[in-house]
Amino acid sequence: MKVKLSSKTPKSFLTKTGGFLKDYDYSLNPYTGCAFGCSYCYVRRLPVSLFRKEEWGTWVDVKKAGRESFVRELKRAKSRGPVRIFMSSSTDPYQGEEAKEEVTRVLLSAMAEEKPDFLFVQTRSPLITRDIDMFQELKTRILVSMTIETDRDEVRKAFAPSSPPLAARLKALKQLSSAGIPTQAAVAPMLPFTDHFPEKLKQVTDIVTLDDFFQGDGAGGRRSASLGAHDILIQLKEEDWFDPERIEMERTRFERVFGKKNVRISQNGFAPFR
Ligand code: SF4
Repeated sequence: MKVKLSSKTPKSFLTKTGGFLKDYDYSLNPYTGCAFGCSYCYVRRLPVSLFRKEEWGTWVDVKKAGRESFVRELKRAKSRGPVRIFMSSSTDPYQGEEAKEEVTRVLLSAMAEEKPDFLFVQTRSPLITRDIDMFQELKTRILVSMTIETDRDEVRKAFAPSSPPLAARLKALKQLSSAGIPTQAAVAPMLPFTDHFPEKLKQVTDIVTLDDFFQGDGAGGRRSASLGAHDILIQLKEEDWFDPERIEMERTRFERVFGKKNVRISQNGFAPFR
């Protein structure tokens, strides 16, 4: 799908946060909009998308970043209190445009100099391996979370056809873990997967977070249903996965492979913990 690009130069990048991200002080979004355009993306129902009047996934605003000005912003934030950052809450910091624009990389290079207390990086893009050198600078103050909702690519294509293939995500996560970066797999939202999925994830990371269409969408599943998640599962003949009880069943399966303490659920799975 052709994505309409524009750019802007924001005065600041850190946004005070709360709600689902209450364990963080700031969210950090290098882009507005997201070319991955996942069908279940809750941002579709937020003002940033609704006011735009263009379909979510068809437009991206690149936020031009200056390294020195972000270093200054970090210093100011640190002088006021703890700086725990969630990157990103309403875009993917490693969507395709990042390969050329390097907004995320510029922000990371500032954070390597003026270190935040904690940085959580959420992505589903293998491009993230480009920045392993930056993550190593942050040592244990970072957790990289790779979304891998399923191990069935036909399911991925039904829900998020423009998102990166699953094999590339698994490979990237393994590369990050092997480089000593703290990582987790985010099975979020949990989509129908094969019996071998927990073992496949265990080969690439030691921690897994599970979330579903009920705990994770902030509206008990209504928002996900309105975005078509239930309908897609019916088309896939996997309707029994649209069930708030399912996550507990699958949790046991993951705990057998990862151990109890390494399986985190919903909001807790996105909290800083190292
Ligand atoms: S990658 Fe994340 S922000 Fe982008 S469309 Fe998918 S769920 Fe939304």
